[in-house]
Amino acid sequence: MNNPTRGKVYLVGAGPGDPGLLTLKGKAILERAEVVVYDALVSPGILGLANPQAVLIDAGKRRGYHSRPQTETTKILLQEARAGNLVVRLKGGDPFIFGRGGEEMADLVQAGIPVEVVPGVTAGIAAPAAARIPLTHREHSSLVTFVTGHESQGKYQPQIPWRSLAEGGGTIVIYMGLHNLPQIVEELQAVGMVPSTPIGLVGWGTMPNQRELVGTLATIIDQVRSAQFEAPAIIVIGAVVSLREILQGQDS
Ligand code: SAH
Repeated sequence: MNNPTRGKVYLVGAGPGDPGLLTLKGKAILERAEVVVYDALVSPGILGLANPQAVLIDAGKRRGYHSRPQTETTKILLQEARAGNLVVRLKGGDPFIFGRGGEEMADLVQAGIPVEVVPGVTAGIAAPAAARIPLTHREHSSLVTFVTGHESQGKYQPQIPWRSLAEGGGTIVIYMGLHNLPQIVEELQAVGMVPSTPIGLVGWGTMPNQRELVGTLATIIDQVRSAQFEAPAIIVIGAVVSLREILQGQDS
């Protein structure tokens, strides 16, 4: 890897939470960072790897509450890069998967700031893996779709092609879907997905407080309610979810 450059913004994927899942490249850049602008879902263990002299700025956004509007985050990145600092924009998972990385990068590129993207392990891959749900399997699924469960205003997103997803027979991985799960489950059944279709939820995947919940389209809403299951969670729908039991072996 080339030495990290000052005056540049590194858009780094922090991975799903477990610091061991940060890339070596991401870690090397964090250790040299002078400014780190991080999101709410970046775990303390990862922030702890940053250069102790770095200025840490929280740009966290949680549902319905934006502690800093996007433009202000961009402003900070621009200002710090122009001041000649080595800037890390640290995002949970992968910056280009439902992380608004594309939008932020566009603003920086337009302003003439050099930017480099360092990918991360996205939650949609890491959380199912941590729960022993393989997203593909030669006998069960040859197709995976990553879907957002809410649109930018925080509302249900009816333009997702649920019918083709239901008919496609592959694995559906939903981010930010817990809040709208009742509508999603209803919609999938309305377009013909059978109520016995397996569905698995993985909350705080790869973290010490990881939680898992497995059921069917018919049962999951009641299960979520009685387990008081909370975000952040990845939702997996499809036949592969039932492999979890086999893969757990003696541990279950
Ligand atoms: N860029 C991120 C996704 C940001 S959207 C990535 O690539 O992972 C935020 C959503 O990601 C959350 O609502 C949740 O659905 C999911 N998520 C992030 N971290 C998670 C984790 N550790 N466990 C389960 N879901 C997680």
